[in-house]
Amino acid sequence: MEEIKKRRKIIIIEDEVPIAELLAYSLKKEGFLAKFALDGNTGMEILREFKPDLIILDLMLPDISGFDICRQVTRDYNIPIIMLTAKSDITDKILGLELGADDYITKPFDIREAIVRIKTIFRRIERISESLENKASESIIITNDIKIFNEEHKVAKNNEFIELTPKEYALLFILAQNKGRVFSRSELLDKVWGFDYFGDSRTVDIHIQRIRKKLDTNKNISIIETVFGTGYKLVK
Ligand code: CA
Repeated sequence: MEEIKKRRKIIIIEDEVPIAELLAYSLKKEGFLAKFALDGNTGMEILREFKPDLIILDLMLPDISGFDICRQVTRDYNIPIIMLTAKSDITDKILGLELGADDYITKPFDIREAIVRIKTIFRRIERISESLENKASESIIITNDIKIFNEEHKVAKNNEFIELTPKEYALLFILAQNKGRVFSRSELLDKVWGFDYFGDSRTVDIHIQRIRKKLDTNKNISIIETVFGTGYKLVK
């Protein structure tokens, strides 16, 4: 089975040529199919054709910003993103993670350490998406108007599909599978982002707010209840 497993594809979008080349070269040596682009527009073009399993994205690009790419990829594709950020830039990291990036690597980095980290993050992301796939046939009724179709990874409200990002979807799905059970923020971080994820629990809050905005009909009664001092639960 192992040998017929297809090679994972990775695209690196990074305008610093030595970094882009070194990452591509090292990832190829590890058995990945790797391509790189030196600006955002080329990156998006290659992405459409190449259909990568992972994007390694520099935030400071000469044409479009890495944040815009994050936003676009999260909206139109279901491809995990690892950002490359400057070590000092905490706000960049938080914003990137909020926009849908899965994790980050700080520059400058040691290439061997970076490769180990990329592989670890990638494995974690795949494990989480597999555990969602395994429950693929489950459909869950949240309220009379809202229903999850897990096979399609879609949510319908009043018989219309609502656009949720992959992370928003995963959060809702986990809450919906255990209606009434309270999940702490760190538990949700573990389940949706992975135990070795570096972001903080604010990421969870922001995603919950977005789900509410998209799904709640009544501003005063949310389908996702905040349990003060503990976390969140989906109302029964
Ligand atoms: Ca750059």
